[in-house]
Amino acid sequence: MIKQFISYYKPHKWLFLLDMVAATLIAATDLIFPQITRTFINDILPNNDMERLVKVAIAMFFLYIFRFLMDYVVGFYGHLLGVKMEYDMRKDMFSHLQKLSFKYYDETKTGHIMSRLVNDLNEISELAHHGPEDIFISGLMLLGSFGLLLTVNVKLTLIVFAVVPFLVLFAVFYNSKMRRTFRQMREKLSDINAGLEDSISGVRVVKSFTNEEYEEKKFDEGNNAFKKLRTRSVRQLGIFSGGINFFSNILNLVTLAFGGYFLHLEEINTGDLFAYIIYMGIIIQPVKRLANFVEQFQRGMAGFRRFSEVMAITPDIIDKDEAEDLHDVKGTVEFQDVAFSYGDREAVLKNINLMVKEGQTIAIVGPSGVGKTTMCNLIPRFYEISSGGIYIDGKNIQEVTMESLRGNIGIVQQDVFLFSGSVYENILYGNLDATKEEVIEATKKANAYEFIMDMPNGFDTYIGERGVKLSGGQKQRLSIARMFLKNPPILILDEATSSLDNKSEAVIQESISELAKDRTTFIIAHRMATIRNAERIIVLTENGIEEDGTHTELMKKRGEYFKLYNSQFKSADIA
Ligand code: ADP
Ligand code: MG
Repeated sequence: MIKQFISYYKPHKWLFLLDMVAATLIAATDLIFPQITRTFINDILPNNDMERLVKVAIAMFFLYIFRFLMDYVVGFYGHLLGVKMEYDMRKDMFSHLQKLSFKYYDETKTGHIMSRLVNDLNEISELAHHGPEDIFISGLMLLGSFGLLLTVNVKLTLIVFAVVPFLVLFAVFYNSKMRRTFRQMREKLSDINAGLEDSISGVRVVKSFTNEEYEEKKFDEGNNAFKKLRTRSVRQLGIFSGGINFFSNILNLVTLAFGGYFLHLEEINTGDLFAYIIYMGIIIQPVKRLANFVEQFQRGMAGFRRFSEVMAITPDIIDKDEAEDLHDVKGTVEFQDVAFSYGDREAVLKNINLMVKEGQTIAIVGPSGVGKTTMCNLIPRFYEISSGGIYIDGKNIQEVTMESLRGNIGIVQQDVFLFSGSVYENILYGNLDATKEEVIEATKKANAYEFIMDMPNGFDTYIGERGVKLSGGQKQRLSIARMFLKNPPILILDEATSSLDNKSEAVIQESISELAKDRTTFIIAHRMATIRNAERIIVLTENGIEEDGTHTELMKKRGEYFKLYNSQFKSADIA
């Protein structure tokens, strides 16, 4: 994991180097200061050397200007490094997320993904540049002051620095304690995000059931658990920084006591003692930096762990190396002994054998939950079949590129997903290269042109998040326009008109028939009118495709279709 983290530094190694050089120089200027004080007290003051005083003062002034510049470099370029790394990681993660299949999204809450992309990456970025800076500066200052003080007085230095290991032990102990809490906090926070995403996107359902209170209670559970974790974490942090301060005070105490004693023995002089006191004062800084680093490290690494977890998920449906493009698709679709199950569950589909000729319209009927939608989702390879094969124009869909496969299949569903944006943008989604004329033409074919022109800003009208400002029928017409624009040879209509009232259905049925013309079309529908006219109907059951024929043929058979027709379709037809 650390290796993966470091790999994100690589493209910005010069920036990193600059940051580290500046950090080193900052540590160096801080180390020089007590030395100057020491010369001041030991040499300049006793000798009344005013000329040297002025020189030293001027030198210090320039030193501080230099230090100011270095602070700027670390402050700006250091953060820039973090910003760039965060950008890279977010980009990688988003592009990785685009590659993952339906299976991943079936199992993952949107809020969890969001919290990874937003919070986690932010904290990783903080760690990415402050981490090395902190360690570097603190390490240099601790080692540097130790080394410099050794040249002043070995005995006193060893005594004073004997306190440091205690400090380190203390820090390491609390380190692991805090790490645990931070990990739990991260997880809780991402749960909260997930719940939030659910409640907010379902706000219309919440309100219609007036379940606001229930939602609040549910939210409060997570919020409260997070509060408890935060409380534990700030308590640990309190003990931690208090402890660090305590040890640095002990450091001062030891310095004064032993330093005073050695002064009394005349083993050191006043200037040396002053240098010790000042060094002890500035040692607090790196120690605090380290404390800060510890916290940052916990958070950043907890975030990075989750980042790398997502990045480690290998996309399960990908193009084979030797995959070829499907081109000039005629549209024959064949299922050969196909079986499928969702994960480890019982098989949803088995023994599926079906040959659909190009341009044929085929209706799939069967009881709810039997696997009609699932069967259609297998054609664009949204899920991978467990056994058997699916062929388009005789080519196995697992042997062709996903882009060409999906580019040749259009799906119109019952719930239309529209993006927040304008009407125009949503239709254009069907073919991003389409011209304005083609878009208008598509909306005319989809019977959508008139209602679009009636809207306040025509094609530029903003349709709200997921198209909330449109009626069900309008949304469906936009999705059909989108499909005309895409113009795929294979079409799947999955309950496309099921949620519409009779009047809007009649309008949409017309454009759907137009859309289905000259395409291989799979229709899943509730209403008899839609089914009856299909040139071919298949009945899907748990055991595979049981019946296959025209309406008249299947009615004569008095089998499954006859039963379904009499129960479900008839009543649906009247309704
Ligand atoms: P139909 O469209 O015929 O009503 P579906 O194809 O939607 O049926 O569902 C078939 C079966 O597969 C159902 O039992 C359903 O619960 C299950 N199922 C559907 N989608 C998923 C999924 N993403 N993950 C797990 N099980 C699923
Ligand atoms: Mg379905």
